[in-house]
Amino acid sequence: MIEVKGLTKRYGEVTAVNGLTFTVRPGLVTGFLGPNGAGKSTTLRMILGLNRPTSGSATIGGRPFVRHRAGLRHAGALLDAGDVHGGRSAAAHLWALARGNGLPRRRVGEVLREVGLEGVARRRVGGFSLGMRQRLGIAAALLGDPPVLLFDEPVNGLDPEGVRWVRGLFRRLAAEGRTVLVSSHLMSEMEHTADRLVVIGRGELIADESVADFAARG
Ligand code: ADP
Ligand code: ADP
Repeated sequence: MIEVKGLTKRYGEVTAVNGLTFTVRPGLVTGFLGPNGAGKSTTLRMILGLNRPTSGSATIGGRPFVRHRAGLRHAGALLDAGDVHGGRSAAAHLWALARGNGLPRRRVGEVLREVGLEGVARRRVGGFSLGMRQRLGIAAALLGDPPVLLFDEPVNGLDPEGVRWVRGLFRRLAAEGRTVLVSSHLMSEMEHTADRLVVIGRGELIADESVADFAARG
């Protein structure tokens, strides 16, 4: 479970996130919807302890999430898929993360198979398409088999087959009882992916309800 209370982030004059309060429950895919610049990434980064709130709080499993050894066992995230050291192979990237988090090396092969990158495991990430980088970022998020997963715009760059695959993956992760939060700027994507929606605009909460109720209101 993720709990966000009064979460606020200001950058000088810009208020990126303004008093957000919402809860993300396990066993569902929760969509985090808002136009570009609405504050989605900033919120996800604060939930993951990568960005310090100006005020308010965000907790995972009742505690602030701290990036530390074994952090990947508690929460995994796909944040900026483009932001991967291009000189390394996909496998080397995941090995480093596994080592840093005390995870067994066999997990690397398992997650590479899960995301369909086993055939390119030894290739340098620098030559990967955005869709392949998204798959690699998803593999990193899954590495620690965590109960809480956050995905920032995961569908960007995926081909139609990849989009179908990732939707199925989110469904399965939720059916396993995990907490799954998926951001997007597209309602059409959320209708296919999410059970519930947290909708934001200009850093503020607009709606927190089922996808069906939100769609019915227009
Ligand atoms: P989204 O993920 O919904 O597209 P962001 O969280 O990236 O939105 O950005 C929300 C707002 O905060 C935008 O106006 C953006 O320009 C601003 N912002 C984000 N990060 C910074 C930063 N490091 N410094 C200044 N402004 C920022
Ligand atoms: P840095 O370059 O800052 O050292 P790393 O990529 O080595 O960052 O990661 C440091 C720690 O951050 C990891 O041990 C892990 O706990 C956390 N971390 C890294 N990637 C993720 C991710 N995809 N999801 C969640 N936590 C992560």
